[in-house]
Amino acid sequence: MGQQKTVWDNPAELIRQLQPENPVLAFAPTVLQEKARRFIAGFPGLVTYAVKSNPDEAVIQNLVTAGLTGFDVASPHEIDLVGRMAPRAARHYHNPVRSTAEIAQAVDAGITSWSVDSQSELDKLFAQVPVSIGDRRVEISPRFKLPVMGAVYDFGSKFGATPELAAELLAKVAARGYVPSLTFHPGTQCVDPIAWESYISVAREICDAAGVRARRLNVGGGFPSHRVSGVEPDLTSIFTEIADTVNEVFADEAPALVCEPGRALCADAFSLIARVKGVRDGGDVFLNDGVYGGLAELPIVGNLDRIDVLTPQGIARSGELTGRVVFGPTCDSVDRLPGELSLPSDIAEGDYVVFHGAGAYSTVTNTRFNGFGLLTNATVMAFD
Ligand SMILES: *Cc1c(COP(=O)(O)O)cnc(C)c1O
Repeated sequence: MGQQKTVWDNPAELIRQLQPENPVLAFAPTVLQEKARRFIAGFPGLVTYAVKSNPDEAVIQNLVTAGLTGFDVASPHEIDLVGRMAPRAARHYHNPVRSTAEIAQAVDAGITSWSVDSQSELDKLFAQVPVSIGDRRVEISPRFKLPVMGAVYDFGSKFGATPELAAELLAKVAARGYVPSLTFHPGTQCVDPIAWESYISVAREICDAAGVRARRLNVGGGFPSHRVSGVEPDLTSIFTEIADTVNEVFADEAPALVCEPGRALCADAFSLIARVKGVRDGGDVFLNDGVYGGLAELPIVGNLDRIDVLTPQGIARSGELTGRVVFGPTCDSVDRLPGELSLPSDIAEGDYVVFHGAGAYSTVTNTRFNGFGLLTNATVMAFD
């Protein structure tokens, strides 16, 4: 991906000046920093960033500038990336299944926080990870799962121990002398705090069953970004709900809290600028980006409906909104946005569709399928 040096006022100015033929992901560092500061000030514990959602170096750099001091990493590559960009930051290696080679690399890199969701993977950690590194005791957090609630996507189908197994793992971690903690990930784009309430209550039951007081509780990512127009997610009330539930459930045995948001930190700091390649016989809209590009997760998570349609002169189209089928550029029929998108009736070939809130799971999953996917980056001051 190329990096433009120019900083544009907003997407409209960029479009007017460049009329880009390929998709552009416009990044507003000020928006990212503002979001990070809101998390750091509002969340009642340590805020770490789930690197997988957008590992762009500019993202990591701006998060560090905003005061972020921890990262959730899932591979040796992400461990090295954060080690290089933020050498003083904490790195939590929260991918519960790792090869012995990956474990060895992470031990060499000085990782002192791990998650686990099975006996077999815990045995691998016991065999390879010392109880302390330097003067730091190593923390191991069993990850547990509950049936999906309040999230748009079920993460429990891949990772997470049942509460019963998590209690056994927690007891073993403590008995071996590691720091016993717990972690969960409620799903993604959870707009309802109920998801966290149930998990926090079960965390207490796991501690009781294990006879272990957890040092820390990581409440995962899953915090929502602003995907739907007019419905800005209420992070403050989610933070309050988490703090209140922990105090109520754990009383004076409350563990220190950690969270690991990905989407909620990075998504709203980017807008994807796609161009209309054609409007087929006045109906279906074909864009130069789609589900094999920067819009990969829309079929799973749902449409981004904060959209502006601009002419090549950067003027907003204002026709009446009508539902259109929208396709991406490849010849694969899967390359279609879910359902229909509300677009102005006067949308025309050569126009631009600006999808706001497109910074999460977009750059990393962009492919070159069919020769498309020439996504470039740009920097903007603001989005309007
Ligand atoms: C992906 C992931 C996250 C981030 O999820 P978001 O929904 O983007 O906040 C956090 N923790 C773990 C363990 C993950 O796998």
